[in-house]
Amino acid sequence: MVNVVVLFTNQVPSITKPLACEDIVQIRNLERDQIRLLCGILSGHYLFRKHLFTMGLSDSTLCPRCEADEDTAFHAVCNCPALASRRYTTFGFHVLSAEEAKELKIEDILLLATTLKF
Ligand SMILES: [Zn+2]
Repeated sequence: MVNVVVLFTNQVPSITKPLACEDIVQIRNLERDQIRLLCGILSGHYLFRKHLFTMGLSDSTLCPRCEADEDTAFHAVCNCPALASRRYTTFGFHVLSAEEAKELKIEDILLLATTLKF
């Protein structure tokens, strides 16, 4: 059986990747707050404005950091220009493509989230 995780669901682009057994073990060993953050980012249901707008809790979908695009998990993790320098300092890239995002490991996503201070 192959487990599949869908990254950044209900967003464009939506990314799917195989979930390795070690990923599942790693997730099971995370603290509850880390699991909540990870699930929020992967599902797009974290406190991003697009999600808040859909829930009727925000007047805008625009990213509060750059105001150039919709505030989604994919935008924050991969291509928000306001976070580019922090992304580069931590991981050595300014922008991440959808294909490159498939290669992110669980710990990378969590480190990005804590480093970029979503
Ligand atoms: Zn932005």
